[in-house]
Amino acid sequence: MQIAIAGAGLAGVFAAQTLAAAGHEPFLIDKGRSAGGRMATRRIGQGRADHGAQFFTVRTEIFQKEVDRWLERGQVKKWFGDDHPRYMAPDGMNTLVKQMASAFDLHLEEKIVRMEAEADSILLAADSGSIFPADAGIVTFPPPQTAELMHRSAIPGTKETVKTLEMLTFRPAIVGLVTLKQPAEAGSHGMLDRDLPEGIEKIIAADQKGLTSEPILSVYMTADWSRRYLDEPDEKAAEALNNSLAEWKQLEVKDLQVKRWRYSEAEQTHAGAWLQAESLPLYFAGDAFLHRDDASGRTRVESAVLSGIAAAEALIKQHG
Ligand SMILES: Cc1cc2nc3c(=O)[nH]c(=O)nc-3n(C[C@H](O)[C@H](O)[C@H](O)COP(=O)(O)OP(=O)(O)OC[C@H]3O[C@@H](n4cnc5c(N)ncnc54)[C@H](O)[C@@H]3O)c2cc1C
Repeated sequence: MQIAIAGAGLAGVFAAQTLAAAGHEPFLIDKGRSAGGRMATRRIGQGRADHGAQFFTVRTEIFQKEVDRWLERGQVKKWFGDDHPRYMAPDGMNTLVKQMASAFDLHLEEKIVRMEAEADSILLAADSGSIFPADAGIVTFPPPQTAELMHRSAIPGTKETVKTLEMLTFRPAIVGLVTLKQPAEAGSHGMLDRDLPEGIEKIIAADQKGLTSEPILSVYMTADWSRRYLDEPDEKAAEALNNSLAEWKQLEVKDLQVKRWRYSEAEQTHAGAWLQAESLPLYFAGDAFLHRDDASGRTRVESAVLSGIAAAEALIKQHG
């Protein structure tokens, strides 16, 4: 079967890998300039820094198997922590997804704006005018964006599905990428998440983490702070972020870039690793879709991976 996977983040690439292993022909579509989604790494000058997920932990055997493969190839390494160690990607979190996506037919800079679905086929339409027909599909956008798309598409018989998607709300996050003139230490491992000024959730020193030789901080602002500045101009958000940062330490800032995530982490998750649009060959997956027995109750790298795999397996079981 030709299977369209909308969204080339973690859930998308793991769904593609699962479908390909079962003999299907998945292809990926993403609105971004590269695959990765919230596994995001930015090049800044001679350096680079993660500005989405910084690390991940492993709580299931399924994910541990995948992580072991990454470890063997040197794509990830243990960062710190004993009980549930935190793993990081020395070349940036983004490379993990990009490398997996490169095995598939990947359509970038294609924003899906409308879908059609029938008993044995689907069709995705992008704002560029491109049309992607397929036998089945998995959509892995953050659910608020999927709900919007479903509204626009008005696929008959999917009212209940849309209602479920609408219940999955997300919080925003603003992240500052701050290049310094001199390195600044953030805790003993390069990550600090306590005793910080109001508004700052955590600070990661990309150089201390081993990603770059240039001193760059990724400064994660709290959800409340981020909500306040989400629709403000870049200069205003950057100035406020810089003021908060100055309360932490005296720093000589060379450059400050602001990255906004309107949908960073789910406030309301779905109990179940995937969702199907009634009996249509159209599935929804992503980090907000949690296994019923997921003890953490939180969206994260692992939940995205498990959801992508589970949605693909459900599709294979029901449609061949
Ligand atoms: C600031 C931040 C910090 C985080 N920190 C951590 C952490 O430290 N540890 C951890 O485990 N997790 C962390 N996470 C969460 C983790 O990054 C996510 O759980 C995971 O990457 C989500 O993967 P996904 O595939 O479900 O979604 P995404 O990565 O969001 O992928 C969805 C894809 O869909 C695409 N898309 C959306 N709309 C359209 C459209 N209309 N047409 C085409 N394409 C579209 C997007 O471009 C994107 O590539 C963090 C997230 C953020 C934002």
